[in-house]
Amino acid sequence: MADPVIIGSERSEAGLPAGMEVLRRGGSALDAVEAAMRRCEDNPADHYVGTAGLPNAQGVVELDASLMLGSGRQFGAVAALKGYPNPISVARAVLERLPQHSLLVGEGAALFAEECGFTTADLLTDASREQWRKQVTDSKEAVEGENTAATDGDQRYRESALSLIRRLAPHDGPWGTINIIALDATGEMCVGVSTSGYPYKYPGRVGDSALPGAGNWCDLRAGGAACTGRGELSMRGGTARTIVDLIAGGQDPAEACRAALADAATLPDEFRSELRALALTPDGRHGGAAGQEGSVYVLMTEASTEPESRPRVVL
Ligand code: ASP
Repeated sequence: MADPVIIGSERSEAGLPAGMEVLRRGGSALDAVEAAMRRCEDNPADHYVGTAGLPNAQGVVELDASLMLGSGRQFGAVAALKGYPNPISVARAVLERLPQHSLLVGEGAALFAEECGFTTADLLTDASREQWRKQVTDSKEAVEGENTAATDGDQRYRESALSLIRRLAPHDGPWGTINIIALDATGEMCVGVSTSGYPYKYPGRVGDSALPGAGNWCDLRAGGAACTGRGELSMRGGTARTIVDLIAGGQDPAEACRAALADAATLPDEFRSELRALALTPDGRHGGAAGQEGSVYVLMTEASTEPESRPRVVL
């Protein structure tokens, strides 16, 4: 038996109370993570997951999500999924109903979601569309209008979008993926990750959130870990798995996160931006690390009345 706990990255506050409610009722870590993440994905004020997520360079929202269980390291994920507002639930369906596979992408992921009976939605809200337009047209030459014949301006518009893809425009706010890790009363652990990925990404780009070992790893022998931020770095660093391996080697969760981020920071990367991580152990210890002062993660125990912030150690 374990004391239930749920932790999450910045902006998971929108979902953690729902997840803790599941745990308090004796529900599973998997149910708790899914319930919590769905709240985050449905939050229209959050432009980095689910509905209202920022789109790719063509203005289409493409979502990545994954779930991993600690007891048997079962993994289910979807990537570059269009049109379905709760990719975390489709990832769960992959994990539970398609055990011969672990990851579905693009059209196949959408076909599977349809077969499972998930309903589609227009994920690009007016607010996120407006934000995308502002960013993509942030150059001297703006597109004059959507319904006019193609002009040199339209061409320049496309070039500016491509230039943004190359530069992966640095962000100006607390943005990124959501990580949620839960430990239930039976001692099972689940790590969930959901994201709309890098804004203005190349269509079809898949990030670390859908990849075991990179953005998500859970092994009940040591713990669970997850990442937000520059996914191409955590893919190359195998960062989530590195964290769990370091915990297995005796490091505490915060120090393991810091060391894994430090390792990723040694990799050459022209498009470097911040990488963050958090981790939870089967005995309920937790911690996180980030590249910037003032970064936090949030948690709830059975005693919590609301999500509580904890500082992340700084790289
Ligand atoms: N890790 C995400 C990705 O690379 C992005 C983010 O967390 O901001 O898709």
